[in-house]
Amino acid sequence: MAKKEAKQSETTKILEKGIENIVEQIEKAPKQEVGKKKPVQPIIKVEEKDKIITEKSKNELGITADKDDFSDWFTQLMIKAELADYTEVSGCMVFRPNAYAIWEKVVQETDKRFKKLGVKNAYFPLFIPEKLFNIEKEHVEGFSPEVAWVTQAGDSPLAERLAVRPTSETIMYPSYSKWIRSWRDLPLKINQWNNVVRWEFKHPVPFFRTREFLWNELHTVLATQKEAIEEGAEIIDAYKEVCEDYMAIYGMYGQKTDSEKFAGAVFSRKLHYIMPNGKVAEGSCFHHDGQNFAKPYHIEFLNKEGNKEFGWQNTYAISTRMLGVMFAIHADDKGLVLPPKIAPNPIIIIPIIFEDSKARVIKKAKEIAEELKEFSPIVDEREDVKAGFKFNEYELKGIPLRIEIGPKDLEENSVIISRRDIQQKEKVKISDLKAKIARTLEEIQKNLFNKSKKLFESKIKHAQTLNELKIAIEDKKVAISPLCKNEKCEELLKFETKGAKTLFIDDKNPVKPNEKCIICNEKAEYNVYIGKTY
Ligand SMILES: [Zn+2]
Repeated sequence: MAKKEAKQSETTKILEKGIENIVEQIEKAPKQEVGKKKPVQPIIKVEEKDKIITEKSKNELGITADKDDFSDWFTQLMIKAELADYTEVSGCMVFRPNAYAIWEKVVQETDKRFKKLGVKNAYFPLFIPEKLFNIEKEHVEGFSPEVAWVTQAGDSPLAERLAVRPTSETIMYPSYSKWIRSWRDLPLKINQWNNVVRWEFKHPVPFFRTREFLWNELHTVLATQKEAIEEGAEIIDAYKEVCEDYMAIYGMYGQKTDSEKFAGAVFSRKLHYIMPNGKVAEGSCFHHDGQNFAKPYHIEFLNKEGNKEFGWQNTYAISTRMLGVMFAIHADDKGLVLPPKIAPNPIIIIPIIFEDSKARVIKKAKEIAEELKEFSPIVDEREDVKAGFKFNEYELKGIPLRIEIGPKDLEENSVIISRRDIQQKEKVKISDLKAKIARTLEEIQKNLFNKSKKLFESKIKHAQTLNELKIAIEDKKVAISPLCKNEKCEELLKFETKGAKTLFIDDKNPVKPNEKCIICNEKAEYNVYIGKTY
């Protein structure tokens, strides 16, 4: 969730030429401004775009957008699968119950792992007084273009502006400074599950880019840098487990180059995910802040020898963006595909209803639901819609497994089960059903993860020259190339590739002694992953 990005100045020009023109230009805007450009003020236009998507989507059943136009396709999918919706607030979204239930599982699983590592939850104010916000210079510079300010209460202007938190370092650390006295108070590991606001002007995409989103922010203080770095590995493992084992998505973890790190951090490490269209989404992050915040915020402790020392700090986050990443990676032409372990209801039971056998079939469907209780199935006994319509609806919503039962199946004491991931049907004896379901859900979970890993691997390409790099990026791949440490080379790289940037350093694959930077031809420092991001 690094926000150094906000620094640069925007070149995108959106002129006011009437709604049609404006919408068209906003659609172009995200493509032009990959990289670091600064927002102009298309407030009206973003609102119009939101409305158009909502209107368009409401009226048609299937997904009408082309999958290559990711933001339109994805937005339609999110709205039709009833995961997200828009309101009158521009750039913000509703997390509908289907999505919120998934987020609750992510929170639950992550929180459980945090608690084992000694993390405690708390809640800090949403508002940050301007003087606190301005203490750490690099941090302020990174975030200020996107901060929303409260300037008035009722009719009275406030004596001091209040920032609506874009992240909470600046409100939490003054308290840390008060609470930490000696080495006995360390480590301090405080987390909050909350919302943050970053007033972006880019075209909103549900889950990926909205002005308000949900996340955790864990801020820790340790006595030594060594402990801080060790803690980083533990927390990232917790995130990774949730993303791999529950959301079934494969990502790669790596350190950002200095020009891409978090505003105020010593280094930033993140998990990275590659979407089917080759774009990269950044996932959970670990920022090691060293003593960069401890010094200006006076987070000091008396060590065992009785000397004053500054604490060593880390911050970590996982956000609702991960839901978007998961939806995009697993979705297919028919809609969403949810991994069973994250789906709020992994099984849908559909009784095939005919007038004369209705009562018996529905009764059996409910008995089966009762027997499969541990898998939280739902029974759809609506009579006003046909079974075929229901099949399509649950396929769109991504329910991992469907059980159909009709009068003939009843006679044979069997049901038809159908896997969402591979669209395969199978007849199963009711007496074998429970064991079969347990196995099948596991297989679906495994299959989705393996597919996601293959997708990732299929997108990676080694590029030893600038030309190879350009071809790889045009081909919607993620490249691995040698680079020097010069920030100018990273800027040039963005220009040459029309917006790709360095993702992370490939520390498993160090450069050979004679390898040259792909941009300036001087000695290369490291191999880096390069790609276009959200
Ligand atoms: Zn270079």
